[in-house]
Amino acid sequence: MANLTDLQKQVSEYDKRYGWDRDRASHIVLHMSEELGEISRRILRFEGYKIEKFDQRELARELTDLLYLTLKLANKFKIDLDKEWNSMWKRYEKKTSRK
Ligand SMILES: [Mg+2]
Repeated sequence: MANLTDLQKQVSEYDKRYGWDRDRASHIVLHMSEELGEISRRILRFEGYKIEKFDQRELARELTDLLYLTLKLANKFKIDLDKEWNSMWKRYEKKTSRK
């Protein structure tokens, strides 16, 4: 099973192969908002607000597109997402244990 470090490495190698590691951070964020829009559209279909048919596979693909871009942006700033995830999780658990 891949962890976030493995995924970041996979994205890094893939992006370097095609020269996409030089993509501007602002362009990555722009693409992230595009993917978020695609996710929103699937959710609106799921909730019946949009009449188009909801497709779970499409939602899964859009979420994964957004994950790829998140990993890509983290690579751009040399952020260790595995470490950050663990740190965030500790903060969340501390916050919820107070309730
Ligand atoms: Mg997409």
